[in-house]
Amino acid sequence: MSCEKNPLSDTKSRSARTIAVHAGQERSQHGETSEAIYMNSGFTYPNSAAAEARFKGEEAGFIYSRFSNPTVEMFQNRMAQLERAEAARATATGMAAVTTALMAQVKAGDHVVASRALFGGCRFVVEDYLPRWGVATTLVDGRDATNFAKAMQPDTKLVFLETPTNPTLDLVDIAAVADIAHAHGAILVVDNVFATPIWQKPLELGADLVVYSATKHMDGQGRALGGIILGSEELIGGDIHTIIRQTGPSISPFNAWIMLKGLETLDLRVRQMTENAGKVADFLAGHEKVKQVMYPFHKSHGQYELAKKQMSGGSNMVSFEVKGGQEEAFKVADALSIFLISNNLGDAKSIISHPATTTHQRFSEEVLAELNISGGLLRLSVGLEDADDLIADLSFGLEQI
Ligand SMILES: *Cc1c(COP(=O)(O)O)cnc(C)c1O
Repeated sequence: MSCEKNPLSDTKSRSARTIAVHAGQERSQHGETSEAIYMNSGFTYPNSAAAEARFKGEEAGFIYSRFSNPTVEMFQNRMAQLERAEAARATATGMAAVTTALMAQVKAGDHVVASRALFGGCRFVVEDYLPRWGVATTLVDGRDATNFAKAMQPDTKLVFLETPTNPTLDLVDIAAVADIAHAHGAILVVDNVFATPIWQKPLELGADLVVYSATKHMDGQGRALGGIILGSEELIGGDIHTIIRQTGPSISPFNAWIMLKGLETLDLRVRQMTENAGKVADFLAGHEKVKQVMYPFHKSHGQYELAKKQMSGGSNMVSFEVKGGQEEAFKVADALSIFLISNNLGDAKSIISHPATTTHQRFSEEVLAELNISGGLLRLSVGLEDADDLIADLSFGLEQI
């Protein structure tokens, strides 16, 4: 009979698992249980004055789905709460998120520092695309944070990195690089795809913006492309919102809905995939045909201490080098029956890829050597299948060498 307020009605007191299921939902007058798909491009106004007020920002409400849509907003709000960010904007793809996050912060004459081990598209944006617009860039070996300090220039406005890196799963010390960036008045943008929001919180480690390809673990079932940028209201609601509004890298409401539904099971899926990945890494590390296993939470990882410091789990990506080269690696991949040969990741289905001949084939031998991408390197995205089946599959593959 008391009229005391339930403390859990304050969503800030809810834990991440509860947030991922409920946060951000706006129910219509019909009281639907699941999130509604507002599959529409525009919105109407009761009268002309209301339209004027909404365009002037004097009245809240949706205008046009290029930059505001109820389903997209639900996804943004749920992700913002999960990441403990002030604000978020969703985009059509992960690359749209990265490109928007970077392009919104710089102009001709500025300088960007980035770690050289980047997802292929990210490296293209930094190394080839930004310079076309007069933004100079420097790529550094991100494994040693002091390399970022050495590369900073008076015009450095932004530092960009991913950790763990694709495909060798090296780490970059987010807190150390955030300090370096801030000491030079630059902002730090972290691509957190491989770690997922479950295992690593870049904003809490000092990053200013975090970007995701939602295509990966958030959808997690190979259906839809999407991306999201998270950070302070100042950065997100400022230039990032304006660039999305005016240039249109916008996510479809339908895809935003898929991501919302994906978030409800993200924690469960990522934890199970991570448990499987740990078992797979242990198996590979002890195998006579394997030269080296790369997994942040495996004791053989060169940055194991840093992994334990900035990540709360090793995530689901495992890379390994077979003894021999491309021929031996192909033999393993081609003999597998459960692992699919594909370049996607974060999927329920386990995936194997050969980076040197696929995602990284455009790079010269010199760059591949610099990135430690040898012919014998294989990258796994460990999925939700039975771990013993996955190990038996890899065991059979390795016996073919
Ligand atoms: C996949 C991926 C991207 C790009 O995302 P898309 O949704 O494919 O555009 C960016 N960074 C990393 C680390 C990725 O794995």
